[in-house]
Amino acid sequence: MTDINREKLTLPNNGKKLLLHSCCAPCSGEVMEAIIASDIDFTIFFYNPNIHPRKEYELRKDENIRFAEKYNIPIIDADYDTDNWYARAKGMEFEPERGIRCTMCFDMRFERTALYAYEHGFDTISSSLGISRWKNFEQINDCGERAAAKYEGLTYWTHNWRKKGGSKRMLDISKREKFYMQEYCGCAYSLRDTNHWRLQNGRERIKIGEKYYGEDNG
Ligand code: SF4
Repeated sequence: MTDINREKLTLPNNGKKLLLHSCCAPCSGEVMEAIIASDIDFTIFFYNPNIHPRKEYELRKDENIRFAEKYNIPIIDADYDTDNWYARAKGMEFEPERGIRCTMCFDMRFERTALYAYEHGFDTISSSLGISRWKNFEQINDCGERAAAKYEGLTYWTHNWRKKGGSKRMLDISKREKFYMQEYCGCAYSLRDTNHWRLQNGRERIKIGEKYYGEDNG
């Protein structure tokens, strides 16, 4: 655990039990440590049907499981639901990041998180997605609140994990834990677009499974 004096966080609406959607270990490391330090009862929900290819999906998931087990935090391994994801992304293949395809992608992840939370006695949901500086925080919160609003008694916690040094600690924890370093958001279209950008800028294509934090990579 990072050795700092942390602010004690509390769940909104007097919540008692949090289901934290996690996208990956680097994003959830700091979020998990902040929640553990606040003595909040929580479970991780790994549901990311967008991650392509399967090898990348398994790498991201395994890293997340490894970190959750280190702290004895329960983790739910939800389905790799690519068929449904591609069906919903139809017609949005060339949308830019932070656009409507990403709204659909967040919606899908939070709809499943909210349903699981409702069926298993959680009163609060949130996500590690919002800590990434590559993401639109408001877009994520809108999707989370929309999903939670469908269930009575369920709240989406809009806490900004980036603030008060959160972004820096996210990086420090990733280096300390030598997490696998993903180099694109996750879906096949983000991999295509990131590779396109890299080739145009004289860089090599992404090699799945090769980069880890703390190995002179960042
Ligand atoms: S770029 Fe990221 S958030 Fe957007 S659709 Fe692809 S995986 Fe989902």
